[in-house]
Amino acid sequence: MNIEQLIDLVYILSAALFIFGLKWMGHPRTARKGNLTSSLGMLIAIIATLFSQGIVSYKFIVIGLLIGSVVGIVAARLVGMTSMPEMVAVLNGFGGISSLLVGVVAYLVNKNLDTFSAVTVILSVIIGGVTFTGSIIAWGKLKEVITGRPIQFFGQQFVNAAILIGILILAVMYSMNPAASTNYLWAIILISFLIGVMSVIPIGGADMPVVISLLNSYSGIAACAAGFVMNNTLLIVAGSLVGASGIILTNLMCKAMNRSLSNVLFSGFGSVVAGKNSAKIEGEVKPMSVEDAYYVLEAASSVLIVPGYGLAVAQAQHAVRELADFLEENGCEVGFAIHPVAGRMPGHMNVLLAEASVPYEQLKEMDEVNPTIETADVCLVIGANDVVNPAAREDKESPIYGMPIINVDQARTVIVLKRSMGAGFAGIQNPLFFKNNTRMLFGDAKGSVQGLVAEFKSD
Ligand code: NDP
Repeated sequence: MNIEQLIDLVYILSAALFIFGLKWMGHPRTARKGNLTSSLGMLIAIIATLFSQGIVSYKFIVIGLLIGSVVGIVAARLVGMTSMPEMVAVLNGFGGISSLLVGVVAYLVNKNLDTFSAVTVILSVIIGGVTFTGSIIAWGKLKEVITGRPIQFFGQQFVNAAILIGILILAVMYSMNPAASTNYLWAIILISFLIGVMSVIPIGGADMPVVISLLNSYSGIAACAAGFVMNNTLLIVAGSLVGASGIILTNLMCKAMNRSLSNVLFSGFGSVVAGKNSAKIEGEVKPMSVEDAYYVLEAASSVLIVPGYGLAVAQAQHAVRELADFLEENGCEVGFAIHPVAGRMPGHMNVLLAEASVPYEQLKEMDEVNPTIETADVCLVIGANDVVNPAAREDKESPIYGMPIINVDQARTVIVLKRSMGAGFAGIQNPLFFKNNTRMLFGDAKGSVQGLVAEFKSD
């Protein structure tokens, strides 16, 4: 076996590790193993690639590797769980700009490209450029350095169409004669940056997680194009996997919100929703104290905890785990009902609860709990709002009508932990808070849960 065959074999092994890694990442129990497996695949792929190329000097590669590793480790350690979508946005942006640079360098090294190579260069440059600036804008919106409101102006669609036609014409002209088209390439890069900005600014900040998942898919496609530019099979495979998994995840997120991708991208969700609050509110809000909530929980024989974005904001996961332990000690059956889009990113609640070592057996998916939810003595809603809003089921006028929810209102008693009557992500009122069987425990979720734990301790 010669060195090339050996490297191909290592590439196949890496690709297999990526695929198994992705599969394992699909379940909380195996997610860590999946992450490690994919990282291992990437490590051996990098080593094999370094051997396969005629590397002139390893100096800059080692320096780059060290700087990248230090920045990556520090950033991943410091980032808060609620800021994870921002971090992913930045990483996608880096992926995009890398593919763009690969395309540019491949062209500058040899400008006499055949048409196929010219097209691959153009694709890696355009998709990479769009991903880069799109991700920066998504990051800015999440970080609130740019307004989270959709930025829309008169004639926007026409401007966008003109930009798209412009880049298409330039791409064709470049591909026909790459050797003499360096200036076209610079223009294409600038316009691709502009497209990234123009496509993300009209989307509301709250929809950014979906956009980031889509940009993740773009970064994969850009990497795939870069793989063609460099004639590297593994980069093509890895790019395709990222591209495909990103688009599948985007689809799942849209489905769980009962929205279409075009609605997310073009409807300017967030600019209109606040005024569209049509929920017909009946009943009155019934606040309760920590002590009263304790008496209800102490008497319950089954409690379903429904976490939401507020749990992440309050960082109440460890306190909640402690409360669940006390309830179990008290002879109560405890489960955690996880809505697929609770929080602000896919798997948000799973990650938080795993951090607090909540046993996986206690985690239940929405479809699993809904059919038997009437048998739950208490649904303890902790910082969740939209994902338990019965308007999604009952009110055809509601902007979230049709979104699948956890039907906590059908439980015997509902206790909602939140700080105020404030709305959630969708910006709409929640009739759940006014139902007869609902009690509101106002306050920061962590403080309230710690109060409940203290009651159990002093018992
Ligand atoms: P929501 O955003 O609907 O509600 C969160 C609630 O938490 C708020 O009403 C807030 O009320 C409360 N809260 C905030 N901070 C605290 C705190 N410190 N203590 C107690 N409560 C707090 O969250 P959900 O998880 O119910 O729903 C997620 C929403 O995000 C859905 O609409 C979903 O479509 C959307 N989304 C989710 C994505 C995902 O991938 N998971 C991606 C994109 C969007 P108050 O201010 O009164 O305390």
